[in-house]
Amino acid sequence: MRRPMVAGNWKMNGIQAEAAALVSRIEQGLGEVRRAELVVCPPFVLIPVVAEWLSGSRIAWGAQNLSAHKSGAYTGEISGTMLRDFGCSHVIVGHSERRALYAESDMAVAEKFRAAQNVGLVPILCVGETLAEREANETEVVVARQLDAVVGMAGIAAMDNAVIAYEPVWAIGTGKTATPEQAQSVHAFIRARLAQLNATVAERLRILYGGSVKAANAQQLFRQSDIDGGLIGGASLDAQEFLAICRAAG
Ligand code: PEP
Repeated sequence: MRRPMVAGNWKMNGIQAEAAALVSRIEQGLGEVRRAELVVCPPFVLIPVVAEWLSGSRIAWGAQNLSAHKSGAYTGEISGTMLRDFGCSHVIVGHSERRALYAESDMAVAEKFRAAQNVGLVPILCVGETLAEREANETEVVVARQLDAVVGMAGIAAMDNAVIAYEPVWAIGTGKTATPEQAQSVHAFIRARLAQLNATVAERLRILYGGSVKAANAQQLFRQSDIDGGLIGGASLDAQEFLAICRAAG
């Protein structure tokens, strides 16, 4: 049975004191979360604070992005090795905001995925369609293209050390959640597509749902057979809300 997972994407929010307060509140309420694997992904500069507060905790931490390069003349970039140096275990790659606002192509995302795994980080690979793509019935075509770029470059075995997050772009930060049935249908599609390459890897792979998940809708979503937890944006900034979502994951 796949272990549920909940990851928090703080996006570009918080300063040191807020980050410390947030993780300490989450940490205090953890007792009621049974099995779920938990990860928080703060902005880069808050990683040291979070690492200090969470050292020895069952909550892991990660980043929201990384460079595809190892080191060198890439002003403003952060490498996977640097993230490992600060205790990160995970990194989000291909978030729709990176794809849309920073023009990250499927290939660039695949390169970041590989760079993450090369230094032992677990990539949380985001895929998902825009509203226009959904309305044009292109959801599966888009998700397949995004997946295939990564699997084509990294190989199907790489999915054993990765997590996928299906995040319909129209549901992120909009308050419009995909229905459990809509989400389940895409999650099942992702698993089936990967199963064509390796059924065992596909069965083991955690596929998280992201897009306006809250305490109020988490349980319904997580009850679906191919939804293994959530990637949580806005609601991960509120300790009680985040904890309630973690409890819903199991
Ligand atoms: C996200 O940023 O990945 C996300 C899912 O955001 P939200 O939960 O706010 O929709």
